[in-house]
Amino acid sequence: MKNRKLNIFILISLILTIFFILNPFGVEILNARPGGGHSYSGGGSSSGGGGGGDGIGLLIYYIFSVLPPQISIPLVIGVIVLKFYVDKKNSSENQTIVATPGIQATMNRNYVIERSLQQLLSIDPNFSKVLFLDFVASIYNKYYTWFGSENFKNLSPYFDTYELQRSKNLHNKQTVNEIVIGSMRISEINLLQSVTGIAVDIEANYTLNIHGRKTRYAVVERWYFNRKTGIISPEPDKMRKLVCPACAAPVSFTDDGVCESCGTKINAGEMQWFVLKHKILSQEVFSTKGLAHYEEEIGTNLPTIYQHNIQETSMNFARRHNIDWNSWRMQFSQNVVSEYFIKIYNAWSINKLNSVRNLLTDRLYDSFMFWIDAYKTAGLKNKLENINISNVQLVSIDEDKFYESITVRIFASALDYVIDASGKVQGGSDKNPRYFSEYWTFIRRQGVEKDAYDYSTCPNCGAPADKMGQAGVCEYCGTKISNGDFSWVLAIITQDESYTG
Ligand SMILES: [Zn+2]
Ligand SMILES: [Zn+2]
Repeated sequence: MKNRKLNIFILISLILTIFFILNPFGVEILNARPGGGHSYSGGGSSSGGGGGGDGIGLLIYYIFSVLPPQISIPLVIGVIVLKFYVDKKNSSENQTIVATPGIQATMNRNYVIERSLQQLLSIDPNFSKVLFLDFVASIYNKYYTWFGSENFKNLSPYFDTYELQRSKNLHNKQTVNEIVIGSMRISEINLLQSVTGIAVDIEANYTLNIHGRKTRYAVVERWYFNRKTGIISPEPDKMRKLVCPACAAPVSFTDDGVCESCGTKINAGEMQWFVLKHKILSQEVFSTKGLAHYEEEIGTNLPTIYQHNIQETSMNFARRHNIDWNSWRMQFSQNVVSEYFIKIYNAWSINKLNSVRNLLTDRLYDSFMFWIDAYKTAGLKNKLENINISNVQLVSIDEDKFYESITVRIFASALDYVIDASGKVQGGSDKNPRYFSEYWTFIRRQGVEKDAYDYSTCPNCGAPADKMGQAGVCEYCGTKISNGDFSWVLAIITQDESYTG
C-alpha cells in the first residue's frame, strides 16, 4: 500500500517536472522603460545545467528532500538531461513571440473586463483599480521578501495555510530581494454569488538567493485574488499599505490570522482580498546582454485601442470638472502629457531621475531605477535625443470614488541609442530618428483640480522639487507627492504592441 502511494507520488512529481521544464506558457518579457519601443527579451533561460539556483534547483532540492536516494538520484539525472535538451532546442529556435491578437478580440476582452468592473463597482462603490493594484503590489512584494522567514506569518490572513507551511519548510534556505514590479494587468474578473475573484498578471524582476548563490529572474506571474462577494473595499489608507483591515496597524499577525494589535481574527477573504493561488507564466534568467540590442519597431502602425465608450466617459469628465472638453484636452496634451514626456525622457537620458521624482508613482520610479542600474552594470548608457512629439491621442478615462486615470497614446520620434563607456554607439542610431508610440497612463486623486503646475516645485508647498528622495516625499513640507493627491502623476507606460486597453 505504502509503495503504491509512493509510486503515484513519483508519477505526479515526474509529470509536474516535465510540465515545468517544457513551460507551455512561454510569454515574452516586455520592457517597461521609457523609449522602450523595441522589445527586449531577458537574455535566454540558461540555468547552468540545473546546478540549483533557479526553479529547477528548487525542484531538485525538493526531490532530494522527499524521496529516497535510489529514486531521487535517477530522477534528478533525468530532469537535468531533459532540461539540457529543452534549453538546447529553445536556443536554436527564435524565441521572440510577440502577442498581437486581433484588435477586435482585444477590444472584446477589454469590454468583458470593463463590464465586470462596472458590475463590481455597483456592489462595491469603494472599489478602485488603482488602490487594488497597490494592494496587489504590496502583497507580492511582502510575499517574496518574507517567504522562508519568521515574518511570513504576518501574511497569514492573505494566504492559504499551505503557503505558511511551505514557507516554514524553507526556513532560512532561500531569500528573495531587489523585487521590482514592471507592470500589472487585470486579466480576469469572476463575479460569483458567494465569491469575487480577480486575476492579475504581474511582470517583475527579483534576485533569488539559495545557499549563497544569487540569480536574477525576469518573470511573468498570474496571481488570483478572492474575496467574499458583497464586501466593501477598505478606504485608501488601508489599501495603499499592507495593514490590518480592522485596525489599520501595520501587518503583524499570528499563524492563525489574529492581529497582534487589535486581537481581531481576520479570516481569509472576509474583510480583504486574499491570494487563492499564484503561478509563474514565464521565467527567464535576467541578463544585461541584450540591452544594446534593438528590434525593429512593430507596434507603431497598429490602430489605436480606444475605450469603447470614450465619448461618454470624456463628457462625464468634462461635466464633473465643469470644463470645456476640447480646450481642456488640448491644454492637458500640451501642459501635462508633452511636458512630462520631454522632462522624463531628458532625465532618463542623463541617468538622473531626481528632477522628475514628483511626476512618477513609486512603482514606475522603482522600475526606471532598475533599468538605469541595469545599463550601468553593463557599462552602457541609453541616450534619447531630439525628442519630438507628433501626436497625442486621448484613449481612455477611468474614474472611481478615489481616483481618476487618463490614458493617452503618444506618437514621437527620437534618436535612441546605446553607448558604452568610451562613447561608442553599441546599438540604435545617433543619426536616424526612431519613430514609435507608447501608451501613458496618468492618475490623480478625485477632487483635485490642479492640472499643470511649475514642475520644478512641490505641488503642495511650492518649494523646489529638488528633495523628493526615493519615496517621493517633499523634504520641505513632509508630504508624499507621488500618489496623485495634488496633481497628475505618471503611473504606467505600455508599449504599443502590448497595450490591450
Ligand atoms: Zn488589527
Ligand atoms: Zn512640499
